[in-house]
Amino acid sequence: MSAGVGTLRELRAAIDARETSSVEVVTRCLQRAEASQAELHAFVGLRSEAALDEARASDARRERGELRSRLDGLPVAIKDIMVQSGEPTRCASRILEGFVSPYTATVVERLEHAGAIVMGRTNLEEFAMGSSTEHSAEGPTRNPWNLACTPGGSSGGSAAAVAARIVPAALGTDTGGSIRQPASFCGIVGIKPTYGRVSRWGIVAFASSLDQVGAFAQTASDCAWILEAIAGHDPRDSTSIPESVPNYSDALTGDVSDLRLGLPREYFVEEGVDPRVWTAVREAGAELERAGAKIVEVSLPHARYAIATYYLIANAEASSNLARFDGVRYGHRASDTDGLTEMYCRSRSEGFGAEVKRRILLGTYVLSAGYYDAYYRKAQQVRTLLRRDFEEAFKGCDALITPTCPEVAFRLGEKTEDPLTMYLSDIYTVSCNLAGIPGMSLPCGSVDGLPVGLQLLGRALDESTLLRIADAYQRLTHHHTVSPGIVE
Ligand code: GLN
Repeated sequence: MSAGVGTLRELRAAIDARETSSVEVVTRCLQRAEASQAELHAFVGLRSEAALDEARASDARRERGELRSRLDGLPVAIKDIMVQSGEPTRCASRILEGFVSPYTATVVERLEHAGAIVMGRTNLEEFAMGSSTEHSAEGPTRNPWNLACTPGGSSGGSAAAVAARIVPAALGTDTGGSIRQPASFCGIVGIKPTYGRVSRWGIVAFASSLDQVGAFAQTASDCAWILEAIAGHDPRDSTSIPESVPNYSDALTGDVSDLRLGLPREYFVEEGVDPRVWTAVREAGAELERAGAKIVEVSLPHARYAIATYYLIANAEASSNLARFDGVRYGHRASDTDGLTEMYCRSRSEGFGAEVKRRILLGTYVLSAGYYDAYYRKAQQVRTLLRRDFEEAFKGCDALITPTCPEVAFRLGEKTEDPLTMYLSDIYTVSCNLAGIPGMSLPCGSVDGLPVGLQLLGRALDESTLLRIADAYQRLTHHHTVSPGIVE
């Protein structure tokens, strides 16, 4: 296999110094994507010819001194849940078989305007539902650190592609942890911005009040570049926040001495958490303390209700969002059916996989007239309590530090038989989406040769502080520079 691609910053410097070109970089990414595909299965579609054409155009712009931005000519992969005009989008579902998008998502359009090159579409859980990228109609993605393990999910393909140094950066979506958890399992950086910071227009909806687009890269500083390109108000998304986007890169001072970092007391539970994960997280906290940050204990009293609340709200919204896949408007339609009702039923039965069906059933149940008050309304009330927990906690600190996941990457097949156990792996990630605040994960050690993720949670709209902490930590440590064995 050709050598792993560097970071966005390294590639920018090498292209600017004329040590390489966009065409060379894109060629290397494509070679690596193809060579790793049989083992890793990070991609579900590569834009080989289009990407090379765009790289040639970028190199020509560079010759003319007309680069559109610092991302111009640099490759980025997108999760196959974001549409791009003329390209298929399948969300790892049979029901979208054959669907080709007539328009482009705002985030993809912004990357294109910046001159970045969309390399291809990455694998995911069907409609982004799950934590292991095993519920994909296209087959699972594997973890580059250990091919017997999952890369996490749902954005497992994007995380594996960045971890295996196939692409320097990728986009994902995070509804309950789907950027942070795979970033943790794959030993890279992943950031989920504040709800509404990045447009959801052109992203196939899972749970609309929780979904958010974000970025994967090897470093926090590369995530800052991607975020600067994709974030900001979009009139086409009514939940998009009309606030200007700070220059995140300027926030990366390397200084954390003015910051108070909160450790949530309720997260120090013994049960179901690998103690070695906590050891790595505490050591990361100690490193930041040596750099001048102050560590304080905080409380999130309703934390234990987060998983139940999340799975009620996410599934309720999913059941409503997925009603549009009816065999009429998109993708798969059952053949030889007797009448409309049978056509709907069979198209959906054939088109959706087991996990998606389970969630539609659960979601429909909690929204039904008899159970709405007992489940859905109650979940919304608890959601408010969880949000207030964070507001209280942030009175005493600037960011929270926690493990991203209770354990390192688990083995393929280990949890597929038991959905509840799978849901429990989201224990540290879902509250962030329920509260709408930003969160990120970065590598902070390893257990049994598999990466451990440190999670940072921040105040709404304060991605800058999270990126500053993560960048400062990466200046002091080397966890992010170790690449998985599959690569070289
Ligand atoms: N693992 C969570 C779920 O299964 C989160 C998924 C996501 O963030 N898209 O719902």
